[in-house]
Amino acid sequence: MRLCELSSSIPEGVDGLLIKKECNLKYFTGFSCDAGLLLVSREGSVFFTDSRYTEAAEKTISGCGVENSARLPEHIKEYCKKFKIKTLAGESSAMTVACAERYGSMLGDDVSLVFGGTADDIINGMRAVKTPAEVGLIKKAQAVAERSFEYIMGIIRPGMTEREVKTELDYFMLKNGAEKISFDTIAVSGANSSMPHGVPSDKALKEGDMLTLDFGAVCGGYHSDMTRTVAVSRCGEEQKEVYSIVLAAQEAALKALRPGVPCRYADRAARDLIAAAGYGERFGHGTGHGVGLELHENPTLNPRSEEILKKGNVVTVEPGIYIPGRFGVRIEDMVLITDGGYENLTRSPKELCTAGNR
Ligand code: ZN
Ligand code: ZN
Repeated sequence: MRLCELSSSIPEGVDGLLIKKECNLKYFTGFSCDAGLLLVSREGSVFFTDSRYTEAAEKTISGCGVENSARLPEHIKEYCKKFKIKTLAGESSAMTVACAERYGSMLGDDVSLVFGGTADDIINGMRAVKTPAEVGLIKKAQAVAERSFEYIMGIIRPGMTEREVKTELDYFMLKNGAEKISFDTIAVSGANSSMPHGVPSDKALKEGDMLTLDFGAVCGGYHSDMTRTVAVSRCGEEQKEVYSIVLAAQEAALKALRPGVPCRYADRAARDLIAAAGYGERFGHGTGHGVGLELHENPTLNPRSEEILKKGNVVTVEPGIYIPGRFGVRIEDMVLITDGGYENLTRSPKELCTAGNR
């Protein structure tokens, strides 16, 4: 089905696509392995893999041939001839220069292997719009992450280290349905929290610290992503004020979301509010990104984005304010773009929470 849509999306001037990224192999064929290669054309498609995977691939894949890659150099030429491929667009984001050179020499002079984003653009555009089944897996991953957040809020105490907080969050997710964690969990406190992607350390949580937790789970190959910033035991006035600005910015960006809206408008809604509050210099990253088979995918919500929101996009909305050497606040929800606007897939509370009170 998706493979048909892909082959009918091949633009003029290109006769075929060569795909290597594991999650894209899974997306289009239902099967993935680290030694797969998918050749797609208007005339037909073929999946190459080695003897470790051919039997499993044949059982799983329909609508596309499966070939043992032991004879890849001859086979790929034969298939290009059969599928009338003269110009083949390679998946730039998944191929190293060495890999491109190897395929280039296999294909010889009759086929030109070109890069430049054609394959990636088509694939990323398709993947940005989620089916209900994909949304179901993202929701499942999000539910696991939220249960882990609830759990961690119950055990955070001053004296616990950032690394302990991270490990407890990860362990809970892995024990409760996550096949993997989405990315290296961020658990940073106090002055460390002013670094948007700080690394958890052996620093112990102190009363009055802000603690930023950015984490997610993977279910069925699909990621979730959320951030909450909480206060440890108590919260100072400046921290409360910064938190309320970030929350207002996050809600302003959420309000802007609906099909047809340029992604940069949603970014601007958050950015303008933070700038008006005097913290413009303290918000350096984009407001959000698509989430799915990969943690970061299309569309992107930042000032340079040329993309337009579509029904079925799943995006994060995650503005922040970071005051170097002092503290930072980020609030991140993941939402589904719907006909009427958006559905927030993140249910965890957003009012400023204090953890660690005895
Ligand atoms: Zn995140
Ligand atoms: Zn994110």
